[in-house]
Amino acid sequence: MTPQNQDAPVLALEEVRKTFGDHVVLRSVDLAVPAHSVTVLIGASGSGKSTLMRCANLLEEIDDGAILLDGEEITAPGVDQDAVRRRIGVVFQQYNLFPHLSVLENVTLAPRRVHRIARAEADARAMELLGRLGLADKAKEYPDRLSGGQQQRVAIVRALAGSPRLLLLDEITAALDPELVGEVLAVVRDLKEQGLTMVVSTHEMGFAREVADQVCFLDAGAVLERGTPEQLFGDPQHERTRRFLRRIT
Ligand code: ADP
Ligand code: MG
Repeated sequence: MTPQNQDAPVLALEEVRKTFGDHVVLRSVDLAVPAHSVTVLIGASGSGKSTLMRCANLLEEIDDGAILLDGEEITAPGVDQDAVRRRIGVVFQQYNLFPHLSVLENVTLAPRRVHRIARAEADARAMELLGRLGLADKAKEYPDRLSGGQQQRVAIVRALAGSPRLLLLDEITAALDPELVGEVLAVVRDLKEQGLTMVVSTHEMGFAREVADQVCFLDAGAVLERGTPEQLFGDPQHERTRRFLRRIT
């Protein structure tokens, strides 16, 4: 990061357009995610939440517009995409842990292989993070011995292991049994306390209201409405937003 970019949003989307064939999935999306803030994306299934995050992580190529990380245009030609991805942690709905690796090995794989951190140092950092998320005693276990909530917490630890500038959490509680949702949301709450910058998509509206600094309602690939949780949940301006909130809450 260059010093002149310190006041730039951590993540910015400028008129981002994304199509799959003739299907427009993101239409002129603008978004600014300031440092140490949490942006929550809400919207019906298919509205473009996952695609937005995949574009931000350069897993999908955008058709038009620009995406900036700390003020640097990461969608510009010639950008080192792997270097960009190292600055962004991602957790998806499915935990995607490697079943043949222990928890500790899952967490330290990228730091060791990608960030070239020595094993002792990677292990120490992983153990610290596992401890913080209440998983220290699980370090030697294999994923199939853990509950879904524990696996998802390990996935979060894995995303944090590279000390990301930005964390993208895409419906990370959607695949969990209801009684396991709370422990995962508690972790996100803690990360917010610690000042991590996050973009979170969720169908948990109570949680969105509590944790969000900014809520964006996506409708058919466009940010139809955005605001503080008070504004968006308390006084939605669009009929489509009201209808969505009635349906989901
Ligand atoms: P959400 O996460 O809000 O449910 P998505 O971003 O997953 O929405 O999907 C937005 C739209 O893009 C959907 O209509 C979906 O079918 C379509 N889509 C997503 N990924 C692809 C893909 N790889 N190829 C074609 N269409 C896709
Ligand atoms: Mg999705």
